[in-house]
Amino acid sequence: MTMLKKFKQAALKSLKSAGVSTLVHNSRWRRQRLLILAYHGVALSDEHLFNGSQFISTDLFRDRLELLRRSKCAVLPLGEAVERLYANDLPDRAVAITFDDGLSDFYRRAFPLIQEFEVPVTLYLTTFYSYYQRPVFDLMCSYLLWKGRNKALNLKDLTGQDFRTDLDGLDEREAALALIHAYARGQKLSADEKDVFAASLAARLDVDYELLLSQRTMHNLTPDEVVKLAAGGVDVQLHTHRHRTPKDRELFLREIQDNRKSIQELTDRNPTHFCYPSGVYDLTFLPWLREAGVISATTCESGFASRSSNKLLLPRLLDNATLSPIEFESWLTGVAAALPQRRVAEHAFAGGTS
Ligand SMILES: [Zn+2]
Repeated sequence: MTMLKKFKQAALKSLKSAGVSTLVHNSRWRRQRLLILAYHGVALSDEHLFNGSQFISTDLFRDRLELLRRSKCAVLPLGEAVERLYANDLPDRAVAITFDDGLSDFYRRAFPLIQEFEVPVTLYLTTFYSYYQRPVFDLMCSYLLWKGRNKALNLKDLTGQDFRTDLDGLDEREAALALIHAYARGQKLSADEKDVFAASLAARLDVDYELLLSQRTMHNLTPDEVVKLAAGGVDVQLHTHRHRTPKDRELFLREIQDNRKSIQELTDRNPTHFCYPSGVYDLTFLPWLREAGVISATTCESGFASRSSNKLLLPRLLDNATLSPIEFESWLTGVAAALPQRRVAEHAFAGGTS
């Protein structure tokens, strides 16, 4: 055996005992996979305390961008990333960043950081509330109930329903929200009527609604902001016009058409990538998406996209403060995917001794 070979053997042995070979294996595994990150809002004030799965703080988003840079991740535009995934041509630690909905905070909080770190980002924009510059009804009602969490609510004067509750518990707030939704649906409230309802709800809960309106809390991006974002390099893609996926082909296709028409008007580009609103998908949608010329579609199911993933059912990692920096990093490197397997192996071992 030559000295070099001896040296290599010894080096490999020590690397193996340090667990590095596992990491090398994981990186090879990782190279054939794409990590698509999913975000929603970046808080203007306290929204991340209201809903930590949908909103993150500006500081957390900055930390994530720094980690992406430090971990030497290749952040690719979504379209290129999907193409290279299926061509088996991904660089090491490939990542795509996506934001859902297009809340107004994207322009004020996320976009400056995206520019500072010079990363490509895809924004799945739902367009109805961009043209209708009032708060997104469901989101605003939920936020108002949380803002009024030290209060009691009587729905009698608002909806006629016999329902009184303290709002300090999540279950109570969810019950109230479900009744409000049922009322709005049942009464077929128009967008204007919903807006009046939200203002009345705020008044009952002593929440300063005018202040929220002036801060554009729970508003979508204005058409003008979308134009500026597209000019600044943000890739604007499909998320339906009214944030819904009817199970009727014509209604479903109309949602895509209306959404696409608005995005085309604002960006001068034809959007071909789609994200299921609220992550809700059904296999009957797939042929309709193909018919609408959609190239890729993303869900909210956790995982890496690989060549065996269906292009119209690509998983993503919903990133938020519940993921520690180490956990987030393990997703970037691919080690996260190995963790459940290790647990399975431990179970197998335990089984073997019994
Ligand atoms: Zn959405």
